[in-house]
Amino acid sequence: MFDLASLQASYIMLMCLVLVLSYGITYRTNRTSYAGWWCLSVALCLGGAMSYMLIGTVHQVWANPLGNMLYIAGVGCVWAASRTLRGRTLPWWCIAAGPLLVGVTAAFDDPGTKLWPAGGWFLAATWILLSLAAREQWLVARPLGWEGPAEGLGHRRSLWALFGCCAVVAALYAVRWLAYLAVGPDAPPFTTYLGSELATFALTGLAVAIAFTMSTLSEEQQKQALRDLAAHDGLTGLLNRGGFLRLAEQEIASNPEVGGHIILADLDHFKKINDELGHSAGDLAIMTFAEVCRSLVRETDLVGRWGGEEFILLLPGATRERADAVVENISGAMAKRALVGTTMLPTISYGIAPVALPLVATIERADQALYRAKAAGRDRAVHHADA
Ligand code: GH3
Ligand code: MG
Ligand code: MG
Repeated sequence: MFDLASLQASYIMLMCLVLVLSYGITYRTNRTSYAGWWCLSVALCLGGAMSYMLIGTVHQVWANPLGNMLYIAGVGCVWAASRTLRGRTLPWWCIAAGPLLVGVTAAFDDPGTKLWPAGGWFLAATWILLSLAAREQWLVARPLGWEGPAEGLGHRRSLWALFGCCAVVAALYAVRWLAYLAVGPDAPPFTTYLGSELATFALTGLAVAIAFTMSTLSEEQQKQALRDLAAHDGLTGLLNRGGFLRLAEQEIASNPEVGGHIILADLDHFKKINDELGHSAGDLAIMTFAEVCRSLVRETDLVGRWGGEEFILLLPGATRERADAVVENISGAMAKRALVGTTMLPTISYGIAPVALPLVATIERADQALYRAKAAGRDRAVHHADA
C-alpha cells in the first residue's frame, strides 16, 4: 500500500529535524546525559537509514551491514538514555555488543545480494534492546504513578508515554522476529503485515514520542542533579547536614519499628593539624575520614558531614554492639592509615544514641554523649545511655 522508499525518505527528513531540534534546543540548553544519549541515538539511526538508501546500488555490500550496525547502536543508546533516568550508566561493552553482533552476522550473510542479511539477529537485537529500555522506564514510572499532585504531572505522564511507545515497538519487533523465524522475510504474513513499511511507521512514531517527552525528562534530570548537588558536601561527597536530615527522616518514617543508632563523630584536636601542617593537610584528614566511613558501613546506612570536622552516621536496625563495632573499625582503619601514610591523622571521639523520634532529639542525645567523650579524654565512644 505504501512505497517503502518514500517512507524512508520522510523518516530521514523527520530524524534530521528531530536531531537539529533535540541537539540545538534541549541538549545545548541543559546538557543532561539523557538528552546526550538521545541525540546520539538519533544521529546513529539517521546514519543507518541513510546507509539503507544505498541498498540496490554497488555499495550495498557494505551499506547493508553498516546500516544494521548503526541502527542497533542507535537503539542501544535509547536503552542507555533510559538508564540515565534512574541515574545508572551502561558499561561500554553492553552498548557495543549488539551492533558488533548484528554487523558481523550481516557481513557473513551475503550482504551484496541479500536485501536483509542476518535479519533474524537484527530483529532480535531490536526487540531485546527496546524491551530493556522499556524496563528502565517502567522502573522509574511505576513508583511515581499516573495521577497525583499537579507538580511533576508532566514528568510522570511523559514517562508513561515513553514507556508505552517503547513497549509497543518492542512487542512489534518481537512479533516480527517470530514471524521471520517461522516463515522467513519473503513470505506472508511477514511481507503482508510485518514488513519494513510498518516498522518504518513504528520507528517514526517512536522518534516523535521520544522527542516530545525529552525536554520534560531532561528538565527533571537537571533538577535531580541540582537537588543532589545541594544535598552533598563538596569536599567529601558525603551528604551534608540538610541532605542527611532529609534522608534520615525519610528512612526512620518509612521503617519506624526498625530502630538503630545515630553516631556523631568529631575529629580530635583537629585544629592542631590545620595550625601545624596547613589547611590542605586538614582537608586530607577530613577526606580520609569520610572515605573510611563510607567503606566501612553498609549500603543501607547513611553517612553525612554534620559540619566542619564533625560527621554523623545513621545505622538503621543496628544493635548497640554493631554500633560499637562500627566505631571501632573506623578508628582502627584511621590508626592504620596514620601509621602507613605521610600525613597526620587524628583520633576520633564518638557520641552514640539509639534512634527515637523526633530525630533531632536523638542527635541532641548523641551530641551530649560526644561532649562526655571529649571531656573524658577523647579517642573513645560514649553511649548516651551510659553517660
Ligand atoms: P576537639 O578535639 O575539641 O574537637 O578540638 P578541635 O581542634 O578538633 O575542634 P575545634 O572546634 O577547636 O576546631 C575545629 C577546626 O576545624 C576549626 C576549623 O578551622 C577546622 N575546619 C572546619 N572545617 C574545615 C575544613 O573543611 N577543612 C579544614 N582544613 N579545616 C576545617
Ligand atoms: Mg574536633
Ligand atoms: Mg568539632
